[in-house]
Amino acid sequence: MIVIADALKKRGFRVTAPRVSIFNVLQKASYPMSVQEVKMGTKGVDTVTVYRTLEAFKQAGLVVQVDLQRGHALYELKEGKSDHHHIVCMSCKKIEDFTGCDYQPIAQQALKKSKGFAKIISHSLELFGLCALCATK
Ligand SMILES: [Zn+2]
Ligand SMILES: [Zn+2]
Repeated sequence: MIVIADALKKRGFRVTAPRVSIFNVLQKASYPMSVQEVKMGTKGVDTVTVYRTLEAFKQAGLVVQVDLQRGHALYELKEGKSDHHHIVCMSCKKIEDFTGCDYQPIAQQALKKSKGFAKIISHSLELFGLCALCATK
């Protein structure tokens, strides 16, 4: 577990109750959360504050935004988590983490073929399919 106040201060955030609350919700979450889900977890922080805080956390590299093709952004804590991605059930929306994406060869290939890029810094990868339950329906 990360000490919330330290993580915020280290990134130049003042430690405020809404920020700590939002950070707490994300830290306990086992899957990427929408603004609404984070808001529900905080019990009292308004939507605009949740949204702005998540965006600020994202800018600061504290949080990553995940696009799971739902038409809205999902957020999850970046700190303390190793490189991982998600498998999403297209039917019931179940989300599972997976690790070991081995993206380096792909990044090297991309760079080799690219005319305008010198460096790959990060990557994003989500897989979509059917969970074991939905696949048998
Ligand atoms: Zn499913
Ligand atoms: Zn990866």
